[in-house]
Amino acid sequence: MENKYKLSIYNLIVEISDTEILLFNTHSSSLIKINISDYQYYVNLFTECNEIENQKLNEIKKTFINLGFIVEKDFDELTYIKIRNRQWRHTPLLHSIAIIPNLDCNFNCKYCFETISHSYMSEKVVKSIEAYINKNLKEKNIESLAVSWYGGEPLLSKNVMERLSRTFSLVENFRATIFTNGYDFTDAFIRKLKIMGVKLIVITLDGNKDAHNKYRYLKNGKETYDKILANISKICQIHNDEIKFNIRTNFDKNNIGFYESMLEDIEKIHTKNISFVFAKILKSISGNGANATNLLSEKDFYSIDYKIKELLIKHNFKKPLNILPHKLDYFNCYVGADNGFAINYDGSVYKCFGDVNPPQNQVGALLENGEIQYFPKEIMKWYGYDFFDNAKCRNCVILPTCMGGCAKTRIGLDIYNNSKCNQGKMINNAKEQIKQAYFLQEKYNNE
Ligand code: SF4
Ligand code: SF4
Repeated sequence: MENKYKLSIYNLIVEISDTEILLFNTHSSSLIKINISDYQYYVNLFTECNEIENQKLNEIKKTFINLGFIVEKDFDELTYIKIRNRQWRHTPLLHSIAIIPNLDCNFNCKYCFETISHSYMSEKVVKSIEAYINKNLKEKNIESLAVSWYGGEPLLSKNVMERLSRTFSLVENFRATIFTNGYDFTDAFIRKLKIMGVKLIVITLDGNKDAHNKYRYLKNGKETYDKILANISKICQIHNDEIKFNIRTNFDKNNIGFYESMLEDIEKIHTKNISFVFAKILKSISGNGANATNLLSEKDFYSIDYKIKELLIKHNFKKPLNILPHKLDYFNCYVGADNGFAINYDGSVYKCFGDVNPPQNQVGALLENGEIQYFPKEIMKWYGYDFFDNAKCRNCVILPTCMGGCAKTRIGLDIYNNSKCNQGKMINNAKEQIKQAYFLQEKYNNE
């Protein structure tokens, strides 16, 4: 009788000793530690022999199926992922919009890459965005709207945020994220966050009070750390932890040592709804960041990666298994969707919000009647891009956790990165993350 199962193409094997491996499936996110010889025995048995009489072995086979390590022989995993991506990419029901209501800022961060100007969204553009939503609600009956507020600094445009949120709330499933420096919240505005659909606030803190205040200060040089922390605390109290936070930290060689005391300050807020990301400060071609010094090399950055993750686990902000490579929801970022784009303060339209300031790669303009007039040659670059056309991506073991990477980089529109993917390095990084998660799990579970 023909056997029914085959090995998943998304199994990643990480050797941890001469006799043991970690087996991780990037599609199901399942992880087990297993003896190499057992693994080889089971794989041969489960994929070559259809009837297994031994009950214990049958149970193990079921576990392998449930964890996604073996899949039915006629199940095409790649096609399944492609279909899920296509459904998301082309649905008219889902819109994802980044809005940049101004290019102004009350901060003067030492590494800022933006060109700050006192440009704010006009009444005409606000009305055009309202017309866009009303038009699409009527014509396409959109069901889901994700809005991200960027700047400049979005909190300098609180009136625009409040007004547009009223229109956005007409969409059945509306949620908003604010990317802010976290300073300019008022009590009245904090109280309205929930009715404005806000589910997530992304704030940058660059270390403890001393470090942060040297990196991120007001235009007049004044400190910002205490007020930002007080704002986070207020939002948590008023909204009962229903609004989540993501704290981003940008590192160079000088502020790494101040991360743990920042975590200790955040711990005092007693909140469970805070996640963390970190990145290295880059030299930019514009803004203050053009003069950035003491930058971390890629090698330096990877050497602090483990240490930072361990601190997050030690302070109960993360569980060790949370640092496993994260399975994406069949897409990399909103720009891959037909209805994913960014609207600048002046009504110009871009695919990636990062293209807005300094402006590059504009793809269209929002008209007063709520239609977007796309520039055919520009928008074609994005609509025409499909990572499934790339043989490397099609055959990549970490495709479910990468989904082709950053579209802007891959189509060659990112001035900082060339468009090639170093697949070997990406896979090695994923293996390293799996090892880290496993060893941290062992360490903290045994304490
Ligand atoms: S790691 Fe590279 S090859 Fe693999 S899916 Fe991502 S972009 Fe494609
Ligand atoms: S930089 Fe890349 S990943 Fe980020 S929003 Fe733009 S296209 Fe997407």
